[in-house]
Amino acid sequence: MRLKVLGAYGASDAEHNLTGYLLDDWLAVDAGTMTSKLSLAQQARIQAVFITHSHADHIRDLPHLIHNRFSQSAPPLILFAARHVMDILCKNVFNGLVWPDFSTITAPQTGKPVVEYRALMPGRKITFNGVGITPVLVDHQIPAAGAIIEMHGQAITFTGDTGPTSEIWKRTNKTSNIVAVVTEASFPNDQQALADETAHLSPETLGHELKKIIVDAPVYASHRKTPFERDIESQIRNLRDRRARVLLEKNYTL
Ligand SMILES: [Zn+2]
Ligand SMILES: [Zn+2]
Repeated sequence: MRLKVLGAYGASDAEHNLTGYLLDDWLAVDAGTMTSKLSLAQQARIQAVFITHSHADHIRDLPHLIHNRFSQSAPPLILFAARHVMDILCKNVFNGLVWPDFSTITAPQTGKPVVEYRALMPGRKITFNGVGITPVLVDHQIPAAGAIIEMHGQAITFTGDTGPTSEIWKRTNKTSNIVAVVTEASFPNDQQALADETAHLSPETLGHELKKIIVDAPVYASHRKTPFERDIESQIRNLRDRRARVLLEKNYTL
């Protein structure tokens, strides 16, 4: 599978982008960065977006992705999220105050709604376009679920934002042919207290998480907070686990 990393940071400036990933050009995971780096034609090819949680750095471009659909001939955008996450998005974002509820608005070119919400039961795998998507709860400040995505005989785990966690590692360890794990290391080790308080990982706690992961696949640290990314990167190298890598904003073939 192809993984396009549109944003690999937990803060944004001219050179660093918020969390957003695209698999094989049609399945997105989080939408902190989406419209700001994709042409309208590329946006129209996205069939579904899985949102891990409602923090603004993971959904910043989502209202605009949905809005752009209105003037396109693409089918409805399918929005997947664990049900608690979906509730938060519907109550607080797509509520007619922050942004319209485009699931009730018909696109003129297709005669169909612009977006369809699909709330998922944590732990239960669904199949969409032949791709398996399993939402798995993680441990963050607010309701949050990562996803294990099985595509063309390969699988990839995205935790989204999380502190120390366990269920998603158990499920990852039981999934065949995991080719990559995308997790996070938000703060450097000298800000461990802040990482703990905000339910994020540092390189040190990422090292503890790596012991829970028995699959032999690269484990990418995303969501590095600028301006600490250099410290975080060197501390990840110092873990001396050959699986541990930093996630870069580029295209990967897995
Ligand atoms: Zn978060
Ligand atoms: Zn975040």
